[in-house]
Amino acid sequence: MEREEEQGKKQGHRWVWWLAAVLLVLTAAGGIALCWGNQFSLSLLLEGDGEMFLEYGQRYAEPGVRPVFAGTKLLRGGITPEVSVETHNGINPDRLGRYTVTYYADFHGHRASAERVVWVVDTVCPVIELVPGPDRLPGPGEHYEEDGYRAVDNYDGDITDRVVRTELEGKILYAVADSSGNPCYAERLLPGYDPIRPEITLEGDARMVISAGTFFEEPGYHAWDNVDGDMTDQVEIEGEVLWYKPGTYPIFYTATDSNGNISTVVRSVEVMGQPRVAPVEPEGKVIYLTFDDGPGPYTLALLDVLDKYDVKATFFVVDNGYDDVMREIVRRGHSIGIHTMSHAYGDIYASPEAYFEDLYGMQRRIADITGVETTLMRFPGGGSNTISCPNPGIMTLLTEAVQDAGFQYFDWNVDSNDAGGAKTANTVRENIITGVQGKRFSVVLQHDIHAYSVDAVEGVIRWGLDNGYTFLPLTGDSPTCHHGVRN
Ligand code: ZN
Repeated sequence: MEREEEQGKKQGHRWVWWLAAVLLVLTAAGGIALCWGNQFSLSLLLEGDGEMFLEYGQRYAEPGVRPVFAGTKLLRGGITPEVSVETHNGINPDRLGRYTVTYYADFHGHRASAERVVWVVDTVCPVIELVPGPDRLPGPGEHYEEDGYRAVDNYDGDITDRVVRTELEGKILYAVADSSGNPCYAERLLPGYDPIRPEITLEGDARMVISAGTFFEEPGYHAWDNVDGDMTDQVEIEGEVLWYKPGTYPIFYTATDSNGNISTVVRSVEVMGQPRVAPVEPEGKVIYLTFDDGPGPYTLALLDVLDKYDVKATFFVVDNGYDDVMREIVRRGHSIGIHTMSHAYGDIYASPEAYFEDLYGMQRRIADITGVETTLMRFPGGGSNTISCPNPGIMTLLTEAVQDAGFQYFDWNVDSNDAGGAKTANTVRENIITGVQGKRFSVVLQHDIHAYSVDAVEGVIRWGLDNGYTFLPLTGDSPTCHHGVRN
């Protein structure tokens, strides 16, 4: 029984050994199966790029390689073995070109090699140096004498002879490329070259319209130049506005800068004339009594005589201090017209400006005193005067100008001659009556600053009324009896 038990124990141990042997066999078979066909190899992995660019002159810094030993089945992740790498580097950083760096390694019979391409390149542009020019300004169209230039490249050295020089307007362009094709440009602005014209700006409108007889006042202008700055005071003005004569007048404003650039702008001024009033011939026989150069000391008496016969006359007045009488003339229903402020022939006929200043001055005086803004007027000396001859043509100009400005000027067709040879009331009266006869209408010239002339009026009125004449004041459309202009 005990033996059987021992026998049984022995048999149990044997079973364990068998099991161990089987496991060992299976493990060995698995290992052999696993290693069957496995191949190891050595490779070199490049650190950094496989193709590198090295600037000319720059030292090559080796990025290195990493050896890797790996198997196709075992050690598939690879290991980095301790192995020396042989590096062949033929790079000459002072010569442009393509170079290769090769790497070799040997590990227990496994060999590996790798290659890296390295380019030595030149990407640095050449430099163009310009010899400074003088400050002298070449005038317009003047040739510029080259002051010199030099082109230097970091690789090619002096490449001045390769520079392409192009003369453009106001500047010179220099261009060059090195042997690697790197370009360089330089520009020389010609000293003082100034293609920019002055700029003229007009104040007020470029197209203006003014009424004839209105003085033209330059509204102003400015000129500015990029080089010369403010050159308003150098603007030349050409063209004249005949402010008294209808028409369109160009004014040219011209500025020339110090480099000869010219600008011109134009302003056009249209002078508009007033439409003229056509005189209307009165019905029946009419006498227009007119009195110049007053009011004076005898004018009030004259007004009384006129009132007595309910006759209205016309007074071409001057500025002589008889303001109350002037007011009375208007109050009593007579026509009032402008004669002159100064009655100084030499002054008023010196120029259109002088004449119109006098005319407007008297118009304002009358308006201030009487409230009437009259456009009726009579030229000192009449439209046919020759006392204005020191200024040739002035009456030709003024006789038109006053009408374009909206005035009606009156001459006369009967002269009492009270400013000439007639020195008595009788003579004055006879001169008038003689003159009036045979005329359908008469514009009679008298001066109420002469007592004898004023004294003649009652006789004239009586004779006129007796002979079927009507006495009328002048109005804007009355006959003007213009004289032939002689200056
Ligand atoms: Zn006069």
